[in-house]
Amino acid sequence: MKTYDHIVIGGGVIGCSIAYRLAKEGVSVAVFDAGKAGQASMAAGGMLGAQNEFERENPLLDIALESRGMFPQLRDELLSNTGIDIELRTAGLIKTAATEQDRDELRRQYHFLSEKDPSIQWLEPEEVPEIEPCMTSRTAGAILLEKDHQVKAPLLAQAFLKAAIHAGAHVYEEAQAVRLLIQQDRIVGIDTSIGSFYATQVTVAAGAWSSHLLADTGFSLPVIPVKGECLSIRLAGPAPVKTVFAADGCYIVPKRNKEMLIGATSIPDSFDTSVTVRGILSLLQRASRLLPVLSDGEIHRTWAGVRPQAADHLPVMGAHPFIGGLNICTGHYRNGILLSPITGILMKDYVNGCQETHKQLTPFAPARFWCQVPVKF
Ligand SMILES: Cc1cc2nc3c(=O)[nH]c(=O)nc-3n(C[C@H](O)[C@H](O)[C@H](O)COP(=O)(O)OP(=O)(O)OC[C@H]3O[C@@H](n4cnc5c(N)ncnc54)[C@H](O)[C@@H]3O)c2cc1C
Repeated sequence: MKTYDHIVIGGGVIGCSIAYRLAKEGVSVAVFDAGKAGQASMAAGGMLGAQNEFERENPLLDIALESRGMFPQLRDELLSNTGIDIELRTAGLIKTAATEQDRDELRRQYHFLSEKDPSIQWLEPEEVPEIEPCMTSRTAGAILLEKDHQVKAPLLAQAFLKAAIHAGAHVYEEAQAVRLLIQQDRIVGIDTSIGSFYATQVTVAAGAWSSHLLADTGFSLPVIPVKGECLSIRLAGPAPVKTVFAADGCYIVPKRNKEMLIGATSIPDSFDTSVTVRGILSLLQRASRLLPVLSDGEIHRTWAGVRPQAADHLPVMGAHPFIGGLNICTGHYRNGILLSPITGILMKDYVNGCQETHKQLTPFAPARFWCQVPVKF
C-alpha cells in the first residue's frame, strides 16, 4: 500500500507549484497526472498581466501583484534547482484601444491603475510607435504597463515539475485519478488508473477537469473549460519587444529568436483542442492590424488549450466544503501562469493551518459555491 502525507491531482503549474512548496518543507507528496503533466499550462501565452487584467477593484488584484513580483527570484531558484530558464522577459506590455468606445474604457482602466502606480503611462496614438516602433499609429490610444512581464509558459510548467521532483515529490504521469476515496466524511486516498494511493490530505488541482472528480462528493463546482487557440510566427526582419494586447483580447507576445506568440480565441464550455481555420484567421487579422510586420513572418506552430474558469471568474482555493482533508485549487482561468508562484505558497500555508492565509483566501473559498441550486454562468 503506497501512502503519502499529501496527494496532488493534476501536474500543471498549479499542482506542481503546490507540490514543490510542500516537498521543500519535507512533506511526502505525490502528483498524479492523467497525461503528460500540464494541459492549459503548456498552451499559455505566459503573460504576467497583473495590471493588464484588472480594470476595477478585485479581491485578486493584490495577490496578482505579489505573484508577479515573485518571478525574478523564482527564475533564479528554478534555474539553479532544475537548469531550466523560464525566459522571463521584462520589456512590459502595451494595451491598445481600437475604437472610441475602447478608448473610453481604457482611459477608465488607466485612471484606476495609475492612482495605485504612477509608472503607468497613457499613450496618444502618435506616441505608440515611438515606444514600440513595429506598431502602427492607427490605434485610438494605449497604456504602457512597464511591469507586466512575461515568461515562456511551457518552460515554467516543466521547471515547476522538475523542481517538485528535485525537492522529493513523486510524480506519476499517465496516471489518472478516477475516484476519491472517502471514509466518514474524510478523504483517505484516491483510486487511479495505476492503483490505489493513500494520504491524509488530497488537493484537486486538475484544471478544467476538477469538477468531474468532485462530482462524486456531491459538490457541484462551477468550473468550465474555455478553449483558447494560439499560433506562433517567426520573423526575420524587425520585431517588437513589448507584449501588445488589444482591447478585443488578441495579443502578441514576443519570445526569444523573434518568435511571436499570438493568442487567443475564447470558446466557453469546450474541451476540444483542435485548431480551426476560423480561429487562426481571426487571430491573424486582428494581430496584423496592430503589428503589420507580422504579415512577413512564417507560421511556425498552432495549438489550443483549455482554461479553467469559475462562474465568478475568481480562482477556487481552499478546503472542500464538507470533506475533511480534501482541498481544491483551480479556476485560475486566464491568469494561472501569473498566479502560480503565490498559489503554491498560499496553499502550502493553508494546509499547514496558517490562520492569516485562511483569512486571505476567504474570497476564493470553494464554499462560496456550496448551495443546492446550480450556479448559472
Ligand atoms: C491559450 C491560453 C493562453 C493562456 N495565456 C495565459 C497567460 O498569458 N498568462 C497566464 O497567467 N495564464 C494564461 N493562461 C491560463 C493558464 O494557462 C491556466 O490558468 C493555468 O495553466 C492553469 O493551470 P492548472 O495547473 O490549473 O491546469 P492545467 O495546466 O490544465 O493542469 C491540470 C492537469 O490536471 C490533469 N488532470 C485532469 N484530470 C485529471 C485526473 N482525473 N487525474 C489526474 N490528472 C488529471 C490534466 O492532465 C492537466 O495536466 C492561458 C491559457 C490558455 C489555454
